[in-house]
Amino acid sequence: MRKNQSDLFIKIKHFWRNNPLSIIACIFIFGTTLIFFHFKQLNLQLVESITTQSTRQYVEVLKQFRSLYTSEVVNTLSKMGIEISHDYHLKNNAIPLPATLSLLLGEKMGLEGLDVKAKLYSAYPFPWRKKTGGLTGEFEKNAWQQLNLTPDKPYIEIETVEGVLSVRYAIADVMRPACVECHNTHPDTPRIGWKAGDVRGVLEVIEPLTMGVSKVNHIFVEMVSWISVLLLLGFFGFTMTVKRLIKNYQMINQSNKLLAIEIEERKQAEARIVQAKENAEFEKQQADLAKEDAISANRAKSTFLANISHEIRTPMNAILGYTQILQRDRQLNDDQLHSLSIVGKSGEHLLGLINDILDLSKMEAGATTLNMQSFDLVSLCSTLSDMFKLKAAQKKLKWNTTTDLAADALPVLGDEGKIRQILINLIGNAIKFTDKGYVNFSVCCESDNVFSFEIEDSGIGIASKYQRAVFDAFNQGDVKPEFGGSGLGLTISQKYLKLMGSELKLESEANKGCNFSFHLPLTVLENKLETEKIEQVEYLAPEQNKRILVVDDVQVNRTILHRMLDDVGFDVIDAYNGRDALNVLKNMHIDLIFTDLMMPIMDGNQLLIEVNKLDRDIPVVAISASSIRNDSEFYIEQGFDFYISKPFHFDDIYDLLKKFLKVKFIYRQNKEGEVLTNENLNSDKFVLPNEEIKQINLLCQSYQVAEVESILVKLSQEFPNNADYFATLNKFVKSYDLDGLCGFLAGGENES
Ligand code: ADP
Repeated sequence: MRKNQSDLFIKIKHFWRNNPLSIIACIFIFGTTLIFFHFKQLNLQLVESITTQSTRQYVEVLKQFRSLYTSEVVNTLSKMGIEISHDYHLKNNAIPLPATLSLLLGEKMGLEGLDVKAKLYSAYPFPWRKKTGGLTGEFEKNAWQQLNLTPDKPYIEIETVEGVLSVRYAIADVMRPACVECHNTHPDTPRIGWKAGDVRGVLEVIEPLTMGVSKVNHIFVEMVSWISVLLLLGFFGFTMTVKRLIKNYQMINQSNKLLAIEIEERKQAEARIVQAKENAEFEKQQADLAKEDAISANRAKSTFLANISHEIRTPMNAILGYTQILQRDRQLNDDQLHSLSIVGKSGEHLLGLINDILDLSKMEAGATTLNMQSFDLVSLCSTLSDMFKLKAAQKKLKWNTTTDLAADALPVLGDEGKIRQILINLIGNAIKFTDKGYVNFSVCCESDNVFSFEIEDSGIGIASKYQRAVFDAFNQGDVKPEFGGSGLGLTISQKYLKLMGSELKLESEANKGCNFSFHLPLTVLENKLETEKIEQVEYLAPEQNKRILVVDDVQVNRTILHRMLDDVGFDVIDAYNGRDALNVLKNMHIDLIFTDLMMPIMDGNQLLIEVNKLDRDIPVVAISASSIRNDSEFYIEQGFDFYISKPFHFDDIYDLLKKFLKVKFIYRQNKEGEVLTNENLNSDKFVLPNEEIKQINLLCQSYQVAEVESILVKLSQEFPNNADYFATLNKFVKSYDLDGLCGFLAGGENES
């Protein structure tokens, strides 16, 4: 039931929504009809009321007239003897009875076109009015009866009289005191015993409603017409307004729909933004995690590198240390010294490799700084040239150096170590990747304090697709594995050059060689540089007794440093760790301490603290083995006087001792640094036959070093008494100075 009701309600609502104008039109028509009928009703009531009012006025006029006639006319004239009779018109000197006059007046009213009739009737009519003056009809009987009961109140009814709806207004015709006698004494009186106040008859006025209606109808029609016009206009205006409202409503609806779509889209966009924000946040978190991972991986890598460096440096220290100790041995022959120098160089090469890896990891950590010092650019380039000239000769490559640096020495300010490393990498590669042709090394002054370096070769070249990649760490392009290498040289060189405000440029084509070049800003200095000593420390100068404490838990490190110092005449005491060292310090005088850092029981830093507590001024030098931070500032900041790194380089250590202990050394000439000249060579009278010289010259021109070596062995056997002569020739060959060999042979060539 309830469901049906709600269904109906929904249907009505739906119908209202779809046909609002039709419904409003129906309501309007229905309302207008109701109003019309209501007005009609009101109109009737109004007409009735007006007619009743008019009828009452007629009755009152008749009543007043009659009273006035009776009191003023009838009484006066009757006293004068004038007869008062209903048939006065038949007699002389007679006037009509008041009732007769009233009837006449009523008739006259009707005749005068007023449509109003007056009637006088009674239950006791005079005999001459027996036919017309008695009570006829329902109204008259009711009126007589009612007025006898309440003579003061009129009796009114609306009913159809002669086919016309009329108001019948009746009042009581009350017996006045002046009339009592006449009525009781009149010969024709229908009744005697009248008293004043008795109802003698009924005075009725009949007035058709049509009169009022015609009057009011005019107003009504006019009013209804105006109202209809107003209603129509109102309805028209209302319809227009509603139509406009509907249109507006539809437009608003449409806008609302669009707005809803837009809101939805914005919501979705907002959701997407929120999602994107969440994604970005997530990605940031991931990136942070990745960064943390990278940092911890980097830390792990650094720790690994520090550890591996420590692990490699310790045996390297042994190899290089003992090599240097053995090289001091005067008993060794040239071959043995040569072998030792190969061991030393290989060790240094291996060390270079480790340093490369450490350098790269330092650069990646942003910890690389420039070590600006004054150095001789000419000397650096000529040393490199000398070094690679031999290597180029070994591969039978033409070695060219070009320079516009005219002076013998050019002091400049820069990081010599890094520049050397860059040039060694580039020239080394040029020789390594070239099998025939040439390698050019050129250094020129580009402008004030700017120098250009260029290394060009005619080797295998680099295809353009690899030219970018070869600068990445461990990238070796498409070269064959037999070339070896680590793929770090170009990476480190490029990073070093960027640190120095420069850039390495490459021009190359596959199989057409390479050209590596860069411009370097190097401030040219006024001061002359101290010439590098090529002397080797032989002994501590006499009467300089110095005692040095070497503290290291690794025996091989202790032994090497011990031997190095002991060999030149220092008094050396060993200690296993910081605590042992403190015991030594309690018992004897020590001039300088070399201490490792990582040691059991008491490490180097703790030892430093304890030494500082002693009231003695003893320099403490840190032995750095594994730390990536091997710069002097770091150790000096820690409180050490200086540091030495493993593997030990004897010259550095002797320099350090000279500085801190103010000791003097006796030097000897370094065999490796010895310069071969025609003067210092053993040039006895023996000379090879011209044929052999020519043959050797030919072999030298085509850099066939092995063939030259074997021909010299053969000739030394052929001419056994000239060992010194052949030893000299062998020195040239061993140092790959084939030009020098040819020159020497030319100097001794037979005139013939
Ligand atoms: P490595 O020489 O140890 O492989 P580098 O970083 O010095 O590492 O060189 C990277 C790569 O660049 C080499 O492996 C080689 O493919 C290429 N390359 C470098 N120099 C030359 C050159 N002069 N000629 C041809 N290829 C070269």
